[in-house]
Amino acid sequence: MGTIQQCIFCKSTTNSFNSVEHIFPESLGNKEKILDKGFVCDTCNNEVLSGLDAELLDFEGIKFMRVMNGIESKSGKVPVANFPNLKIENPNKDHIKVHLQTMKHVRDQSDTGFKLDFRGTRKMDAKRLKLLARSLYKIGYELVCLDHGRDFVLSPRFDEVQDIILGKKDFSGYILMGSNEKSENPRVSYYPLKDEQGREFMAFDFVYLFVRFIFDMERREALPEAGTKLERMTVMKF
Ligand SMILES: [Zn+2]
Repeated sequence: MGTIQQCIFCKSTTNSFNSVEHIFPESLGNKEKILDKGFVCDTCNNEVLSGLDAELLDFEGIKFMRVMNGIESKSGKVPVANFPNLKIENPNKDHIKVHLQTMKHVRDQSDTGFKLDFRGTRKMDAKRLKLLARSLYKIGYELVCLDHGRDFVLSPRFDEVQDIILGKKDFSGYILMGSNEKSENPRVSYYPLKDEQGREFMAFDFVYLFVRFIFDMERREALPEAGTKLERMTVMKF
């Protein structure tokens, strides 16, 4: 009698399974939402999935908020956010230092403050949005597995999602992105909903610090038009 081992992504039963899987990256402060050994093979964990975690951590909104709030990485370092025109750091977690290359991005200076324009490191094009979507789908899919078990996520309903997360299939979809109230630990909730044909899908709501994403990993068409603003959320379609 051995413990059942089967990867919920590639479905392998024979690969090695030596590590647990953090549903959110540990560097976002996740110590609780973890899949035990035997759910994700080392190959998927160390290759595709760690690349997707890195993508999420490199997303400007998250990188910026980690620095502003002094959130330590798993090795205990407070991150530094590098942007093309400036660098932001928070070395003692109580004092934000901004290093500017030039004053030309500083606006509205007064005795009480100023506004700062900072530019993203990388362009947020469809290619990058898909990487961000896959990193969010990974979180959503693993959370559903944690709540409902391996048999549920290995049903044919999620075959397409597995291929998309692993990068084996091109896809379209949408993410709603916006800001929210502060939530120190990453938090994701989901709601079962029905589409126009009566098929069930789940809407996910991911909140970290002040960054919020709403997504669903099963429907390919965005209901609101791309670019629509809904209560501080913007629809991004790819
Ligand atoms: Zn695998």
